[in-house]
Amino acid sequence: MMIPYKHEPFTDFSAEENKKAFQEGLKTVEGYLGEEYPLIIGGERIVTEDKIVSYNPGNKEEVVGRVSKADQKLAEKAMQVADETFKTWKKVKPEIRADILFRAAAIVRRRKHEFSALLVKEAGKPWNEADADTAEAIDFMEYYGREMLAMKDGKKVESRPGEYNRYDYIPLGVGVVISPWNFAFAIMAGTAVAALVTGNTVLLKPASTTPVVAAKFVEVMEEAGLPKGVLNYIPGSGKEVGDYLVDHPRTRFISFTGSREVGTRMYERAAKVHPGQVWLKRVIVEMGGKDTIVVDKEADLELAAQSIVKSAFGFSGQKCSACSRAVVLEEVYDQVLDRVIELTKELSLGETKSPETFMGPVIDQSAFDKIMSYIEIGKEEGRLVAGGEGDSSKGYFIKPTVIADVDPKARIMQEEIFGPVVAISKAKDFDEALDIANNTEYGLTGAVITNNRMNQEKAREDFHVGNLYFNRGCTGAIVGYQPFGGFDMSGTDSKAGGPDYLTLHMQAKTTSEML
Ligand code: GLU
Repeated sequence: MMIPYKHEPFTDFSAEENKKAFQEGLKTVEGYLGEEYPLIIGGERIVTEDKIVSYNPGNKEEVVGRVSKADQKLAEKAMQVADETFKTWKKVKPEIRADILFRAAAIVRRRKHEFSALLVKEAGKPWNEADADTAEAIDFMEYYGREMLAMKDGKKVESRPGEYNRYDYIPLGVGVVISPWNFAFAIMAGTAVAALVTGNTVLLKPASTTPVVAAKFVEVMEEAGLPKGVLNYIPGSGKEVGDYLVDHPRTRFISFTGSREVGTRMYERAAKVHPGQVWLKRVIVEMGGKDTIVVDKEADLELAAQSIVKSAFGFSGQKCSACSRAVVLEEVYDQVLDRVIELTKELSLGETKSPETFMGPVIDQSAFDKIMSYIEIGKEEGRLVAGGEGDSSKGYFIKPTVIADVDPKARIMQEEIFGPVVAISKAKDFDEALDIANNTEYGLTGAVITNNRMNQEKAREDFHVGNLYFNRGCTGAIVGYQPFGGFDMSGTDSKAGGPDYLTLHMQAKTTSEML
């Protein structure tokens, strides 16, 4: 009997033994810092001359790993291996594919703090955020494994007397999985295992800033029994390897999470049919957000301020779900703003060496530069009331920044910054607040802090986002509990961690037999 799915609990770092266990994890990771990681194609380890150097964004001198880098020739080799392996992998029973995910989840659970510690080093995550990232990776494996079992016999269709109809799901083919650095473990593993468990083979191109955790994950999948060639590890440049594979006639589907710029470009490229291609590519694209917390005048204002601060600055605002705008009703505006400023000024910033550090660095120099330039824009567009400074001498640190009294149409209220910056606007009533919340091109997450049931119900209908939360922050969706994905320019609303997700990686086949 399969144990029902339940999400992986988060670690309580106030308990001394958990803190110690995490420090052990850090020690393990420190023992292999700077190592080399080859490509893995058909199980074969391939070392290239050209390398991606992964380093700690909180301490630029610390090299996390040196990772081989695929070029087009190697990408082609990987495609051929994946294409060939698909012929056998698609025949492997769903139960066996699911069992590999369950085994992999168990291996990761045993090495949980090591994986989280690696995220602390490679992505600059605070301990609790790293812990949640690893927990989510485990959740994806446990959840998608069970989902596959639930749909292995297809779905119910009717049959007339003398007839036997079936409706079954079959795999698609080779999937190109291009994963982001912000959930370097969870989204990377989640998008890869969803594709695998449904019987597809995968070319995994992880983000160039976080390739080491992906290499470790591929090793875990091998240890869990995944046959060679099913999951191929090919880090490389987006322009060279990414484009090549997106355009490839043998690519059957693409699963991408990342920026809007890259996502829309990929969507367009994938639409073109190349010589030799006999299908239209499936594209799953999850992009950005410009997520709003609305604060009603009848609301718990302390909860409102806490929710804004936590959602805006958790992992330095580098979540597509992050609160980058707050809209507060004028009656309570000053009170909420004052408390947000107070809470923001209490936050600790630095290299995340202990669980007490709330906020670490941003991911790299270009992120640092982009966020700092948005802070300059914000200073023109509103009133800087907290933060505003950055220091990239040792790592890429930016103070949590609040910009108040911003016009809803201002650039910092419209454009995704992907850093620790929140803009705050005033609304004269709840309807106007919802209008402001909906006035972006994105539609990913949102939250409403209110004690007014009628306003809450209005928001449930009219706040146009894929993930809407009431009386809490707008980040931290849990696999299997709050399926995650957005509307409009946030992507294809694929709802990761939800009951419809696996079908995106399969096609349905109807068979009808005369008895
Ligand atoms: N699922 C995450 C959350 O709910 C965000 C994922 C992302 O940033 O891509 O906070």
